[in-house]
Amino acid sequence: MRGKQSLLTKELLYDLRVEQRKYIDEIARKTGWGHGTIWRALQKFNVLSWKRRLTEDLLRQKYIVEKKSTREIGEETGWERHCVARKIKQFGIAENLLSICNSGEKNGRYGKPVSQETRRKIGEANSKWKRSDALKRKVALAMKRHWQDAEFKRKMLECSLKGEENSSWRGGNSFEPYSPDFNTMIKWKIKKRDNCTCQLCGKTEGEEMEKYGCKLAVHHIDYDKKNSSAENLITLCKVCNNKVNLNRQYWKAQFQDKLMKFHSGEQG
Ligand SMILES: [Zn+2]
Repeated sequence: MRGKQSLLTKELLYDLRVEQRKYIDEIARKTGWGHGTIWRALQKFNVLSWKRRLTEDLLRQKYIVEKKSTREIGEETGWERHCVARKIKQFGIAENLLSICNSGEKNGRYGKPVSQETRRKIGEANSKWKRSDALKRKVALAMKRHWQDAEFKRKMLECSLKGEENSSWRGGNSFEPYSPDFNTMIKWKIKKRDNCTCQLCGKTEGEEMEKYGCKLAVHHIDYDKKNSSAENLITLCKVCNNKVNLNRQYWKAQFQDKLMKFHSGEQG
């Protein structure tokens, strides 16, 4: 048994949960037990929650009328902010809550500068947080669905209008459609020509599927989406495809050179 854990008595739990209004994760940290154990102990001793029921009326009043943030509502009702956010979303009070729940003026930190120290702490915390492969696949799928939505695309386009001063700004051409001849058939032909491997790092389609749950990409060498001739297309993995978005002139020359060698080898 681990020495640091305190004995979970009914009195202790009542004191922490009801008197001190602690969240489960705070109790877990204080007592050295896991969330699950705390949760089961609370149920076993019937230590009633001090939380207020999150009804649709209550949430509408707090969120829409009183314009409170999910965090503020959470503090008042005893719920954690993500639970409040989920309920608001469930009731259809606000859509797309993940992005708006504490953004802008609703966030207590709105307009306040972030110190170097805080930035460093955030960076440190983020670096410890690793996404599992299953989660990565889930996120990739969700993003794919998002981009199929015309409204989402339009919003992203609006946001990126700010980007004209950005060095990566290409006049919004990432929103231009591909030419109609850039279809499954041509992609298949290109991948077959390239042995179904990324032409930069050598990753196979199988490996890509395993890691990100998606197929290898077919990249336009001169970045012109309308030019879908075989000489202008090359197979790349997701990571390399992102990489070649910078230093465009360099990569364009590299790939054109590579394909030229390939074709001359084929004929000679
Ligand atoms: Zn690659």
